[in-house]
Amino acid sequence: VRAQGDEEAAAKVAAANVDTGAPTIFDKIVSREIPATVVYETEKVLAFRDINPQAPVHVVLIPKKRDGLTQLSKASEGNKDVLGELLFAAKVVAEQEGLEKGFRVVINDGPDGCQSVYHLHLHLMGGRQLKWPPG
Ligand code: AMP
Repeated sequence: VRAQGDEEAAAKVAAANVDTGAPTIFDKIVSREIPATVVYETEKVLAFRDINPQAPVHVVLIPKKRDGLTQLSKASEGNKDVLGELLFAAKVVAEQEGLEKGFRVVINDGPDGCQSVYHLHLHLMGGRQLKWPPG
């Protein structure tokens, strides 16, 4: 588990690389160039285990096509369908992972949100008592 300062530094570095149009690490997971433990897949959505899990269950859900959707704040009207699909997929994966006692869905946006990968994604976390508020 990385220290909070490392997360913030990584997010700032990533923010400097926003919108280059180059394939993100998540594009490479979609194309299977980089391995990942995929737990759920539909035509539009891919869900895989986070490489640095913050809870016993920590799944990342992404739109397979980034389509300019680097972060939630860049979403347009045309992205509404896929945004709905992502949230519904989080519910399906939570069920699949046996998170009947509850879970959390998070979207980090921009440097203040500690976003480190500029390909929109939801974090699904559960399997332990989560605390509130997050840091
Ligand atoms: P964020 O900080 O919200 O941008 O989240 C990015 C997440 O992607 C972090 O929780 C990372 O641990 C995770 N991550 C980065 N690279 C990979 C990878 N190759 N496979 C799985 N998860 C990854």
